[in-house]
Amino acid sequence: MRSWVVGVFACVLVFSGGRATAADCPGHPDALGTSRILYVDPTEHRLLGTMQYRETLPLAHKEVVLTFDDGPIPPYSARVLETLASQCVKATYFLVGSMARAHPDMVRRIAADGHTIGTHSQNHPLSFHKMPLANAEREINDGIASVAAALGGEDKVAPFFRIPGLLRVDQVESYLATRHIMTWSADFPGDDWKKIGAQEIVNRSLARLEAKGKGVLLLHDIQPATVLALPILLGELKARGYKVVHVMPASAAHPKTQTVAAQWLMRPPKSGPATIAWPEPIPLPPVAAAELLPAPSLATVAFAQTLAGSILPLAEKPDRKKAVARTSRWPQRTPTPSVIDMAAREELPAPNPESFGYTNMIETKPAAPDRRAAATTPADAAASPTAPVSRLPGDITGSLRPSLGLWPRSTFGLSKSAYP
Ligand SMILES: [Zn+2]
Repeated sequence: MRSWVVGVFACVLVFSGGRATAADCPGHPDALGTSRILYVDPTEHRLLGTMQYRETLPLAHKEVVLTFDDGPIPPYSARVLETLASQCVKATYFLVGSMARAHPDMVRRIAADGHTIGTHSQNHPLSFHKMPLANAEREINDGIASVAAALGGEDKVAPFFRIPGLLRVDQVESYLATRHIMTWSADFPGDDWKKIGAQEIVNRSLARLEAKGKGVLLLHDIQPATVLALPILLGELKARGYKVVHVMPASAAHPKTQTVAAQWLMRPPKSGPATIAWPEPIPLPPVAAAELLPAPSLATVAFAQTLAGSILPLAEKPDRKKAVARTSRWPQRTPTPSVIDMAAREELPAPNPESFGYTNMIETKPAAPDRRAAATTPADAAASPTAPVSRLPGDITGSLRPSLGLWPRSTFGLSKSAYP
């Protein structure tokens, strides 16, 4: 009978993927729930949390892990436990050894509620980054021993450690690794130790979570503001479609969750053909000599006059007028003189001002004495052979007067009053 019950329970776990859905939260049909359990092997991934490290937990988009540091302290820790229980949410705790010695019942209650319990040193000194390694080792081991004493065995303490103040240093991380303990940082903090209000804790936590899309949130179950913020936060997580993941150390009974290396990165590197922006060039077959086009010659182009001015006969003189009439829907135009006709004409007349259509620049009467020209020094006149043109009263562009003052003053012979 007992084996039958165990078998049914195992089947439920298998087919639900280890999920504790809202339906599994008696009395709370709208609970956030815990979506899955993630079993991790501390010896494979030693350092977690992108606030400080390259890797984080292998979470899917919109998955979040809740962590609580520095406890336990009644009554705040108890209130946090009640809120988590009301939503059937499982979290990871990093307890301080001295606090566990003071409140062993609370440690046991955290364990009884099904949360994961790691440690956070014995006395929470904010000097891990500069204390002798022997002192750090003592802080680590005493903290584990204190929590283990409350729980009845070190095997009930998860091999998860968070350095107080996140004051990491290589030698401490190396020591933890030799003990097969996973060092946890976080992906974003809730700032709940900064004397901010509950709503601000919620706002910062959600903003940082949404910015990364997933991750490990750092909170403290010893802060009154956290007690008030947690129900709001869990409600927002539910409303925004986030899933809470419960993390546990892998064991013989619960092998590690199968993952690939890229899942342990907050932003897996983009790779593979689908993500390459430009296609690879396609190699072309070599061109055979016989396929090469002949070199161009004068006979292949439409210009029959060389640069030297000699006339070359065209193999076939095109009838441009006829071609235009036959192939184009554009209006007829005046036939252009042929190259030969142009060459046969005499030299073009020298250009004069009427050629450009600007007659207003031409002084048909002798100009009045120009004060500006009179002020021109002989040296200026010598340096500027076009000085007579500069004396003209209008500018050479006629209608393009600088009404907006956009033109440099030196370009036009206008008085200063023409500019704003
Ligand atoms: Zn702490």
